[in-house]
Formats: sequence, structure tokens, C-alpha cells
Amino acid sequence: MTGLRVAVVGGGIGGATAALALRRQGVDVAVYERRETVPPVGSGLGLAGNGYRVLAGLGLGPALDATGAPISTMRMLGADGTEFALYDTGRLLGMRRADLIRVVLDGLGPGVVHHGRECVGVDPDAGRPIVRFADGSSAVADVVVVADGLRSRTAAVVATPPALRPSGMSALRGFVDGDGLPEHLATGQNAWLGADRHLLCYPVDRHGTLNFAAFVPRPAGNADEWSFRVDPGMVRDAYAGWDHDAAAILARATDVYRYDLADRDPSAPWTRAGVVLLGDAAHPMLPHMGQGANQAIEDAAVLAALLGGSGAAAGLAERLAAYEAARKPRTDRIQEQSRRNGERFSGGDSSPVGDLSWVYGYDAPAAGRAAAGRLLDR
Ligand SMILES: Cc1cc2nc3c(=O)[nH]c(=O)nc-3n(C[C@H](O)[C@H](O)[C@H](O)COP(=O)(O)OP(=O)(O)OC[C@H]3O[C@@H](n4cnc5c(N)ncnc54)[C@H](O)[C@@H]3O)c2cc1C
Repeated sequence: MTGLRVAVVGGGIGGATAALALRRQGVDVAVYERRETVPPVGSGLGLAGNGYRVLAGLGLGPALDATGAPISTMRMLGADGTEFALYDTGRLLGMRRADLIRVVLDGLGPGVVHHGRECVGVDPDAGRPIVRFADGSSAVADVVVVADGLRSRTAAVVATPPALRPSGMSALRGFVDGDGLPEHLATGQNAWLGADRHLLCYPVDRHGTLNFAAFVPRPAGNADEWSFRVDPGMVRDAYAGWDHDAAAILARATDVYRYDLADRDPSAPWTRAGVVLLGDAAHPMLPHMGQGANQAIEDAAVLAALLGGSGAAAGLAERLAAYEAARKPRTDRIQEQSRRNGERFSGGDSSPVGDLSWVYGYDAPAAGRAAAGRLLDR
């Protein structure tokens, strides 16, 4: 053990991966998650090559491969089903969010994640930061990693975040049984682009389950809630008259959830007095590059290399600043590109997405080691 004690607020994909990466570096870590358990189903997401690389390096490759659905192609289609592009997706694994978290938690083993512990504040100015919980208890650590997501209530401890910026779009999401659907729907990622909306569909497990995310202009109503269940007829109506493959998928939808999409402008700093932001709490982005979770996973690898790896000889504040410096230019760019993709896709823009090797080819553990090396060379 390094002697360093880290408390992570939020046991989502970013917080859980940070805990695993830190433990592998010999750091003593505890995760505090407000939910009582991992939600049984959740939604779907694509684990891209850049995120997969980190998790495989932590020993999770076989469990991920056994759980997720490998996707090798992305078909771009018009609303009427005309195919206008076919991309190689590289190493993309479709997964249920809950399955991904479970794989990471299995890697962590018992006793690290404390469920049912809602953080209500962090006091950074007590020498060592103190995390306070709704049940009146508290925890002291050398470093507090704030990983409580897009609507973080803790990030303001570091700096007041920019206001949430609704994108004007909602995602209607759900899973369907893909049994009997054409092969190209069951094995690949398909995106239908229309005038002001687009539909994305891909497999999430080895049993033929498909995830769909139907992006539509934000419907009226429920302004106070950003995530809730809706009538499945809503998604069918929204895509009435579209390609028969799209209709076949949506006809099977039973449980549909609406998410009103929002991000924030890139902001700084990410760290203050031993408290550091990670994942959506640091760089909330729209889902139109499929990178929010992947970037949180990358953050975890870089932070772990700096807190537990060879960077340990440098001071804590320097190491946390080095994490921000290593990560922020990349996440700024992806936040920006995600917004632009949202505008493009919902405008029916079918122009090529361009070379994305800078996204998927990134080696976060190597970037973390390089950042630690730069600290030591000073
Ligand atoms: C429609 C849609 C599609 C998406 N598709 C993809 C995709 O394909 N690929 C991808 O990489 N990303 C995708 N994303 C983005 C991705 O879901 C997020 O970026 C990712 O979940 C962020 O991880 P996180 O750990 O930072 O935050 P979260 O996943 O939000 O986790 C935060 C955790 O903190 C907990 N928490 C919150 N407050 C407290 C508190 N006070 N105390 C204790 N715990 C707390 C929460 O319960 C939660 O478990 C998508 C998002 C949307 C909306």
C-alpha cells in the first residue's frame, strides 16, 4: 500500500473504475454510492476501444468479452432506410450499463463500495478533506474523488460549475428482444438520421438484446424531471413512417424511458485542496460521440497512474494538477465535438464523421505514466 487514503463519491462507471485502478496501484480506497444497489437493468452504452483498453489492462477483458456484444460496423441510414455509409467501429462492445458496473465491482471484490451512502457535502479545508453523509456519518481521506455525475452536488466544492445547458433534445431509450430480427440489426450498430431526430440501435449482450436510443426534440411536459418512464407509443409515434427496420425495432418496445439531454461548458479547475473531479462531474458531455463513460474510464486510469504509480514521489497537489493538465484538453475537445455531432445528426447531416482514431486509439494508462514521468523529470 502507498499509505494514501482515497474516498470516491459516486459508484458509477467512473467512480468504480477509479477505485479498481487505484487499488491495482496499491492505494487504499473506499467508494460511497447513494444507491442501495446497482440498478438491475439501466440503459445501454458502447464501450469503445479507448475505454476497453483501460479495463482490459485492469484484468477485466475476459469478463467484458463474456458479457457484452462485439460490434464491428456502424451503418448510417436515411429515415427511409437508404444506406449512405458503413464504418468500421474498431473494438466496440455494446453493454448494459448495469452489467458494466457489475463487471467492475466483481473486479473490486467486496468491502470497497459502500452502497446507501449519500454524500451531502465535502469539507476541503480541514487539512485532510472530510466527506459528509446524509446519515450524519463522515469519512476523512487524503484525496476525495468527486464522481457523482452530470448533476453532481459535490463538484461545487472545487469551483462553481457552469450552468446545465439543455440541448433541446430528449433520448427515448429502452431494450428490445432482437430474436427474429434481420442479422444486420442484431450484430451491428445502426443509425437512422432524419430531419430533426435520429435513432441509434445496437446489441448489448450475447442473448440478442438490442438497445435503442431515439433522439427527438424535447417534448413538452415534466420540466422538473430529467429522467422518467413514458408510454412506448411515444417513440413509435415519433418515428412513424420511417424505415421498416426502425419500425420493427420500435414495435417491440415496452419499457421506454425519457432522458432530457444536457451538458455544461468545459470548466476549470478540477481540483482544490485534495478534492478532484472525475467523469461527468468534471466534463459533462452530450452522448453523441458515445464517450461519456469512456472518458470517465480514461480519467480513472490517468488519476491512478499519478496517485499510485511512479508519480507518488511528487507532492499531492502537483499530482492532482498533472491529472487535470493531462485530461482536460482531450475532454474539452470531446465535449465540443459531442455537441457538434448532436447538431449534425439531428439535422440529417450524412457527411463522413472523419478520422476518429484520436478518440479510440488513445492509451490512457500510457498517458498516465507519461504524466507521472514528466513530474519526476522536473
Ligand atoms: C442517452 C445516453 C447515451 C449514452 N451513451 C453512451 C455510450 O454509448 N458510451 C459512453 O461512453 N457514454 C454514454 N453515455 C454517457 C454516460 O452514461 C456517462 O457519461 C457516464 O455514465 C458518466 O459516468 P460517471 O461515473 O461520471 O457518472 P454516473 O454514471 O452518472 O455515476 C454517478 C454515480 O454517482 C452516484 N451519486 C450521485 N450523487 C451522489 C451523492 N450525493 N452521493 C453518493 N453517490 C452519488 C449516482 O448514483 C451514480 O451511481 C450516454 C448518456 C446518455 C444520456
